[in-house]
Amino acid sequence: MTSWISIHERYSLTDVINAAGTYTPLGVSRSSVVVAGSVAQALSEFFVMDELQDIASETIARTTGAEAGAITHCVAAGITLSIAATMAGAAPDNVARLPDTRGMRHRVVLPAGHAVDYGHSILQDVRLCGGLPIIVGTESLCTLDELDRELSHPGTACLLLVSSRLVRGRMPDLDESVAIAHSKGIPVVLDGAAQDMRIEELLDTGADLILVSGHKYLAGPTAGLIVGRKDLVMAARAHEKGIGRAMKATKEAIVGALAAIEERQKLDLTNWRRSQDEKVADFVRHAGSIRGVYATASPDPAGMPFSRAHLRFEPSQCGKSAKTVAEELKAGTPAIWAMEHELPLGTLIFELVPLEYEEVSQIVFRLEEIVGSR
Ligand SMILES: *Cc1c(COP(=O)(O)O)cnc(C)c1O
Repeated sequence: MTSWISIHERYSLTDVINAAGTYTPLGVSRSSVVVAGSVAQALSEFFVMDELQDIASETIARTTGAEAGAITHCVAAGITLSIAATMAGAAPDNVARLPDTRGMRHRVVLPAGHAVDYGHSILQDVRLCGGLPIIVGTESLCTLDELDRELSHPGTACLLLVSSRLVRGRMPDLDESVAIAHSKGIPVVLDGAAQDMRIEELLDTGADLILVSGHKYLAGPTAGLIVGRKDLVMAARAHEKGIGRAMKATKEAIVGALAAIEERQKLDLTNWRRSQDEKVADFVRHAGSIRGVYATASPDPAGMPFSRAHLRFEPSQCGKSAKTVAEELKAGTPAIWAMEHELPLGTLIFELVPLEYEEVSQIVFRLEEIVGSR
């Protein structure tokens, strides 16, 4: 027996404390021992893959109230395959033809503020299957009338909406947007990648297909969940024999996603929320006691049931800008990463959801060292 050595030691990799959220460049999330065990078990077995997908569909349906579900490689894959389903259905000759959409409806309408960039532009997910993105309104404003006009066009395949903290501007209400699309017989695809604790609410908007991540807060292996109308879910699956070949779910991803869904079912949400709130409050109290650091807890703007710690650095008092603090945090050992999208406002945002208390203490300790109150 060789002695146990961590992956980080074996390959001399950087130790990271991830306070940047479900961030793809850092490996997104941490799976529990049970979920990781299911993945490991699946890797050395053979399966009839369609059977695994059928079980996934039943499990997703039972736990969400939707008609059906499927697992894809990731949410980006789910977006592309869902749009393909609305354009081409499941007919084998259509499946074989994509991304050539000549003769098919292929306009994909979305409000401008929903054209999000989550590491790449969502518009590229649309174009990948031959869809033509039709952006409505401006990044600051899109009205229901504008949406109505674009959805009236006969070549429209679907309405694409996003539920995320990345959505910008004053965009039409999700329920009203879905209702307008449905009044014209147009299906709605809703990307709720980081909204896996709100699937029922997203289904309540009436959207036909919802996409959520299996590896963000659900903390499974890399996977995307398609949740919704059975005919469209089956059509999305049909495209795995076409453009979706490179987007397929692996056996370990399906089994791991199932384990993560089962674990979520057992989660005591009230307790979970309380412990997350306490962790954030504790961090805010400690970080906020450092001279020149102004700390507050702020709820997730997209409605997930937890808060993040917002730390504003006042350079005249603590001697460092938020940007410098961010750089020094990342340069330390372990490297500490926070959310940087409010750096221009002098604020670093810390998401603590997957972190242990000891890691949270390490962040406080490093902050004290960096802004020099020790
Ligand atoms: C993370 C994210 C995605 C992509 O998810 P992957 O599973 O990494 O492909 C898509 N949309 C939004 C809004 C996201 O936040």
